[in-house]
Amino acid sequence: MKKAYIVSTGTELLLGTTMDTNSVFISEKLFENGIRVVAKSIVGDNEESIRRAFKLGLESADVVISSGGLGPTLDDLTKTIACEVMNATMELVQEEVHRLEDFFARRKRKMPEINLKQAMFPPEAVILRNDLGTAPGMYLSKNDKIIILLPGPPREMKPMFINEALPVLIKECGSECRRAHMRTIKVLGPGESQVDEMLSEIIDDPKGCSLALLAKDGEVHVKVTAEGADEASSQVILDELSARITSKLGDGVFGYDEDTLVSVVANLLMERGKKVAVAESCTGGLLSKMITDLAGSSHYFWGAVISYSNEAKNLYLNVQNATIEKFGAVSSETAREMAMGIRNRTGVDYGIGITGIAGPEGGSETKPVGLVYIALADATDCIVKEMRFVGGRDGIRMLSARTALDILRRRILSKG
Ligand code: AMP
Ligand code: MG
Repeated sequence: MKKAYIVSTGTELLLGTTMDTNSVFISEKLFENGIRVVAKSIVGDNEESIRRAFKLGLESADVVISSGGLGPTLDDLTKTIACEVMNATMELVQEEVHRLEDFFARRKRKMPEINLKQAMFPPEAVILRNDLGTAPGMYLSKNDKIIILLPGPPREMKPMFINEALPVLIKECGSECRRAHMRTIKVLGPGESQVDEMLSEIIDDPKGCSLALLAKDGEVHVKVTAEGADEASSQVILDELSARITSKLGDGVFGYDEDTLVSVVANLLMERGKKVAVAESCTGGLLSKMITDLAGSSHYFWGAVISYSNEAKNLYLNVQNATIEKFGAVSSETAREMAMGIRNRTGVDYGIGITGIAGPEGGSETKPVGLVYIALADATDCIVKEMRFVGGRDGIRMLSARTALDILRRRILSKG
């Protein structure tokens, strides 16, 4: 198995103003492709630190992958140092000069002289395209060692690593690179310890797989990695175990791998040609934001009424003043009238109503912070769930919006 070492460069990573997410992404992709990360360094934009990290990386691994420091300015040192430790000499690459000139011309700007630095590469290097910025990356293989340089901004680094660097690396590593078979099973509803309990039998005997549980944003992710003798048997083992886990967890499983709760609900609505409208109080539009974060949401999302005040609930959703007076704005009855109100007004298939106390103030003994009512109205029924969330204002609002989506998901599934 090939070994890799990651070097994340950038003083901002040491100051704590930017979190080193690049190395996390790179580690994950390397692992999936059968390359083991042995260690990583985070260093500032300092020549000596970067040099030391690269040297240590080359001593301890076959591949060193760095991110950051490919820009045109003085503190962008990575490429120069990488070439130095690899004993490679850089030359101006005309094709890259044209690409840079073109990049600036399209933006109606003149290329600053210092950018020419970004067109310098050793002739034996593979230049990694960057369609989203000026800094190309570099792949240099020499004397049985490989150095890969990637830009710092994650939106440039990710596509470059996946599309440009990884294919070359996998090709060069050949059969030493064995794709690990992994699947993430995503669960909503039961908490981490509950999932642990439900899967105890499987955890005790994972039949050639390894299992890890991870709690994230109210979800539990079950990561399954198959360790079969070869590719085909790994796949079989993985499929078998995933099926067993899914059947144990039932409709708590909302998706796999890249699925998100929003994307899953979106697909369910699209497949059935259904639409949803929402009436939000304590979430203040968060649910609508989550739904519309996904491109194409106009196909199934009618829109929302952010009915924060009692007056708005009455005026736009026809929630009865008597209901609010008798039961309160945060009550099962109000949530129900909000969901039915938005559904009646819009004529769509599903109406969601959310009302609750996000805090930190406004709670009482009978109605504490975290009490949230979520209602879902459809053609046949209106269900209301009372939730008791724990956490700060942001957490309670986020959980409210996600739970509303999950209630909709389960409802659509249960009705086929
Ligand atoms: P650079 O390519 O060094 O000019 O990096 C530019 C920007 O990329 C930085 O200001 C950060 O916002 C971001 N960045 C750099 N390194 C990382 C990293 N390891 N993880 C996440 N973001 C990063
Ligand atoms: Mg930097």
